Amino acid sequence: MVETQLRQRGIRDERILSAMSRVPRHEFVAEPYRSRAYDDNPLPIAEGQTISQPYIVAVMLELLDLAPNQTVLEIGTGSGYQTALLAELSQHVYSVERHGRLASEAEAVLQKLAYQNVTVIVGDGSKGLPEHAPFDAIVVAAAAPELPQALFEQLKEGGRLVLPVGPAESQALQVVTKQQGTPVIVEQTPCRFVPLIGEQGYPA
Ligand code: SAM
Repeated sequence: MVETQLRQRGIRDERILSAMSRVPRHEFVAEPYRSRAYDDNPLPIAEGQTISQPYIVAVMLELLDLAPNQTVLEIGTGSGYQTALLAELSQHVYSVERHGRLASEAEAVLQKLAYQNVTVIVGDGSKGLPEHAPFDAIVVAAAAPELPQALFEQLKEGGRLVLPVGPAESQALQVVTKQQGTPVIVEQTPCRFVPLIGEQGYPA
């Protein structure tokens, strides 16, 4: 997976490549999909959601550009796979998931793998996590209709927010940097994510 799907397609950050060779992706998928855990595509998880394609996870991690002493907010824990990678690359990860079942299953796997720098919270992540803000970086693993203002407010000055924006049929990854309190948005690659459902996302 790391050589053919990531390195050969241009992922260059050795910290990310090394983290992705360490984190056992098969632990985050249910038994019927385990033999396909390292395939080049998303896979189904509970509640009609998906664990993202490894390549798109790597792209988002590169765009986040995390340092080991940083605190990151993740919206959309899903299986917890990306959460584990964020935990490898930063000091602490707060991860918010709207489905209680996904949050508790992800938490159980993260505990089994002995990650101690992760806090999983059930709730509407489109509103962020004001009680733990500001964050050095924020990553959203579900597509928003537009930049959620609450998330931007909870970003530190100079911080980076990576999120997919757009409707089901035409989304693009955006990198939003906070510069003197205003958002500087750079649009990156097209992508396809499940919708961000919540107050500052799409209606349920
Ligand atoms: N990165 C995850 C992984 O590695 O498994 C996959 C995330 S999945 C593509 C998107 C997740 O976002 C789903 O689990 C969905 O329930 C969650 N989600 C959607 N809207 C949300 C919201 N407002 N707050 C928190 N989680 C949300």
